[in-house]
Amino acid sequence: MKHAVLIVAGGRGLRAGGEIPKQYQMLGGVPLLRHAVQACLRHEAIDHVQVVIHSDDQALYHNAIRDLPAAEKLAAACFGGDNRQDSVRQGLEALNRLPEPPATVLIHDAARPFLKPDAIDRLLTALSQTPGAILAVPVVDTLKRGTRQGQIQGGADRSDLWRAQTPQAFHFGAILDAHRAAIGLNMTDDAAVAEQAGLAVQLIMGSEENFKVTEAEDFARAERQLLHSLGDIRSGQGYDVHAFGDEPSRPLMLGGIIVPHSRSLAGHSDADVGLHALTDALLGALAEGDIGQHFPPSDVRWKNAASDRFLAHAANLVHERGGVIAHLDLTFICEAPKIGPHRDAMRARIAAICGLDISRVAVQATTTEGLGFTGRREGIAAQALATIRLPM
Ligand code: MG
Repeated sequence: MKHAVLIVAGGRGLRAGGEIPKQYQMLGGVPLLRHAVQACLRHEAIDHVQVVIHSDDQALYHNAIRDLPAAEKLAAACFGGDNRQDSVRQGLEALNRLPEPPATVLIHDAARPFLKPDAIDRLLTALSQTPGAILAVPVVDTLKRGTRQGQIQGGADRSDLWRAQTPQAFHFGAILDAHRAAIGLNMTDDAAVAEQAGLAVQLIMGSEENFKVTEAEDFARAERQLLHSLGDIRSGQGYDVHAFGDEPSRPLMLGGIIVPHSRSLAGHSDADVGLHALTDALLGALAEGDIGQHFPPSDVRWKNAASDRFLAHAANLVHERGGVIAHLDLTFICEAPKIGPHRDAMRARIAAICGLDISRVAVQATTTEGLGFTGRREGIAAQALATIRLPM
């Protein structure tokens, strides 16, 4: 039996504000959509993941899914229609064009980043008994009817009311037929489309944690919830030294930017001693070796390489583990150049490489009062501390 997931990411996400659709805004250092895609790719029972996007969002989408583990399960995105129902149908038609269409499909919102594996298990189990099953939570608040002016006009019985969530899971052929028959009805979820076709749909207990990021303030709630689930806090340190060299054409790269200076550092890559220390700090926090192991100096691929690749790789290893970078603290040890005037540009660059807010990146500098090799201006040393949070 083949199980597919269809993730609907074609909306414009206007209620959340921001300059790009909400599914591409950042949560925990990665685009919101990536959380849902990753949760589905990680699940062993899921064979195939299809995402439906808006045709304007292709660049945003490719950035959001870059370097995902188990990416062989992820199909090329297809484009959605004018509304959610149309977009789901386009996605189902894409699945139907597979050489072997799936037996079941879980239809999921891109804006629900907290999908747990056991919820997928319960939906798939339910589908052995029923053609449709959705996650939902019972309404617990007392319900009131109100006038436009805000006057209460009686209540409503909540005892049989549930709030529908996603995924909504169905036998594939049945929901495809139901969607084809429902063109133009503009229903708000797939359970309604299924019901319209006479399919029985089972309610499966969801959780409040599986909420949908809708308004701008939901991002703050999601960020808090994400951090709460990431209680495995780790620190790593990194240290690096590069000597000044005499290659006149070579710029001095420090902290990811070019720093105007009379001398530059020697090294196999671009010799950015700051980014190397940060990369080692992240690898240390993950207990995944060091920069020399990941990017051997003996490998010609890394000759003159821009060190932002090394740092981005280490940051991505954190994200692959479902973690976030809590803080990066980088200290340069040198007599010259002066770091202060470049501090904020370095912080901004490091933050951009790691997908972090600039408030989570510190850059400091110190001299050694003329003592030692840095005091003699023979080279620059850098040390870094990285704090990361991983899932418990
Ligand atoms: Mg180095």
